[in-house]
Amino acid sequence: MSADSVHDVVVRAENVSKRHGSIEAVADMTLHVRSGEVVALLGPSGCGKSTFLASVAGLVRIDGGTIVLGDRPVSGPGLHVAPQDRRVGLVFQDHALFPHRTVADNVGFGLHAMGRADRRSRVGEMLELVQMTDKGHRYPHELSGGESQRVALARALAPSPDVLLLDEPFASLDPTLRTDVRDEVRSLLRSVGMAAVMVSHDIEDALALGNRLAVLRAGRIVQIDTPDVIHRSPVDEQVARIFGPVTALPVTGTETAPITVLGPVAPRAVLSWSSGPVVLVRPHDVDVSAFSGSTGTGALGTVRDRQFVGHGSRLVIALDGGSEVIADTPFDAPFVVGGRAVVGNRAAPPPAAG
Ligand code: ADP
Ligand code: MG
Repeated sequence: MSADSVHDVVVRAENVSKRHGSIEAVADMTLHVRSGEVVALLGPSGCGKSTFLASVAGLVRIDGGTIVLGDRPVSGPGLHVAPQDRRVGLVFQDHALFPHRTVADNVGFGLHAMGRADRRSRVGEMLELVQMTDKGHRYPHELSGGESQRVALARALAPSPDVLLLDEPFASLDPTLRTDVRDEVRSLLRSVGMAAVMVSHDIEDALALGNRLAVLRAGRIVQIDTPDVIHRSPVDEQVARIFGPVTALPVTGTETAPITVLGPVAPRAVLSWSSGPVVLVRPHDVDVSAFSGSTGTGALGTVRDRQFVGHGSRLVIALDGGSEVIADTPFDAPFVVGGRAVVGNRAAPPPAAG
C-alpha cells in the first residue's frame, strides 16, 4: 500500500481556503495526515493555524477546497458536516471543561449514544489511561493545570475519534508543568497510535509531538517534512531561524566549489544560487580559535558579545570584513569580549587531493 493510499490517509485537506472578511486566514492549504501520524502546524500568531484546525473540525465553513476524513467527505462545495458528526476529538488551550460537571461526567460527555454501563466502563478506561482514576468525582476547579489538560484529553479520546485535533494544548501551562504534560501527552498519543494534528507557535511543542512539521506563513504551508529534514534543509532563512539563530553569509566561488568568508562550504549548503546565494551557518557549526599569526581559510574578527547558553558560551564576532557571526564555544573556551579570534567552518570539506 502506498503511503498516500485512500485507506491510509485519515485527514485529506485539499486546497482549503478560508477568509475572514478581507483577511485570507487560510490560503490554498493542502495537508494529508496518515494513520498514526502526528502533524504539528507551526507558525507565528495570526498565520492561520487555528482557522485551519477549526476547518477540519467543522467549526468554520471553508470558502474553497475539500476536506475528507477517512473516506467521508465533510467539507466542500455545498457540503458541511457538523462538528459532532465528524468523529474528531478536540483539545484546546483553555481545556474548556464543563465547570459544573465532575471529571467523570466531563469525560463521559460525548458518549450519549452508549448505555449507562458501557458509558461508565469507557469513562473508567479513559480515566485510567490518563491516570486520573481516583479523581473522577472532582470538579474542574479542584484540578491542577496538568490534570485539567489530561481530563480534556480523556474527554476527547473517549468517543474513539478518528483524529485528534489539538490547538495550542500546552499554552496555558506554566513552563515547568508544560514539559511534564507535554511528555505525558506525547507518550499517550504514541501508545494509542492515533492520528493527530497539533497547532502551536512553539518549536519545542511541535518537536515533542510532531512526526512531521508543517511550517505556516500567512495562511500557507511553506515547508512540510520531518523535523530533521527541515532542520537540515530549510527552504529559507526564516524557516531556518525556527530552530535557533543562524548567520547568513554571502557565497562566492562556483556552484561546485562554493566559498564564504569562513572558508569552503559543501555545495548542498548553498540556499538558491539564483537569488543572491547564501549559506546559513548555525552557531555550533562555526569554529573559533585564538589568533596565532595565521587565519588559514578562516577570517579574523573581534568578539563583540559573550553570553552563557545551556551548553557553553555564545559569541557574537564582528569580522574585520564587516559581517557578524554567531558562534557557540565550550564554557572553558578562552574568549573574552574585545579579544581577537579566527573564525572558520566546522563543517568545511577536506582539502581536495593532489
Ligand atoms: P493563529 O491560530 O495562527 O494565531 P488564526 O487562524 O486564529 O491564526 O487567525 C488567522 C487570521 O484570521 C488572523 O489574521 C486573525 O486575525 C483572523 N481571524 C481569525 N478568526 C477570525 C474571526 N472569527 N473573525 C475575523 N478574523 C479572524
Ligand atoms: Mg491560534
